[in-house]
Amino acid sequence: MDRSIFESYAGLEGRQLLEPILRDFAGRAAVVSSFGAESAVLLHMVSEADKAAPVIFLDTGKHFWETLSYRAKLIDRLGLTGVRIITPGAADLAAQDADGTLHGQNADQCCHIRKTLPLQKALDGFDVTISGRKRYHGAARATLDFLSIADGRLKVEPLAGFSALDITAYMKAHDLPAHPLTEIGYFSIGCEPCTKPGGSSADPRAGRWAGSAKSECGIHWTVNGKTVTPSSRARH
Ligand code: SF4
Repeated sequence: MDRSIFESYAGLEGRQLLEPILRDFAGRAAVVSSFGAESAVLLHMVSEADKAAPVIFLDTGKHFWETLSYRAKLIDRLGLTGVRIITPGAADLAAQDADGTLHGQNADQCCHIRKTLPLQKALDGFDVTISGRKRYHGAARATLDFLSIADGRLKVEPLAGFSALDITAYMKAHDLPAHPLTEIGYFSIGCEPCTKPGGSSADPRAGRWAGSAKSECGIHWTVNGKTVTPSSRARH
């Protein structure tokens, strides 16, 4: 993927960015979704553009049952036909997390075998990944670009500029169902052992890996450590 690709989509965001990407890279662009608290917005935009677009869900084996139930509800409500449920490698689990407690001893390694490795495998053959990260989530996401190139793939973040209010307004405007855990105080939702209630629009990911320095699972990091953005040649 060449950086000249940035010029084709310069100035676009939200649905205006997502639709041409799904059209221009049909079959070669994969949406990655956690079916978490804010996922309905991007998934709704995807459903309006192409209901058969590939959507990858990493089923770590550690999700809340409410997330799995919400996944089924959203797939049905939005008519998505391209959802792929990806699971960790059986050999990795047997060798490194046979009793399922690795998250409590080495969360980075747990994320590596339950999320990063399965995703890398699932993305084989795709040239573009699309996710729903936003700058308002802060930390490493605060400077998120709408487009970047990492590991030879175009990464697209159509919702980078959305605020918490924008999410709420979009969900209301399109009558989208809320993740059930958001109604009992969870602002951001990942795996059950690593997610606590809490968080707010000022610190949305406060409930994720609470009490530890970890703030990301690693699936958005690059393998070779280099990301090319429209404004810089290479960011490490
Ligand atoms: S979020 Fe927690 S349980 Fe899920 S893969 Fe990462 S460490 Fe494991």
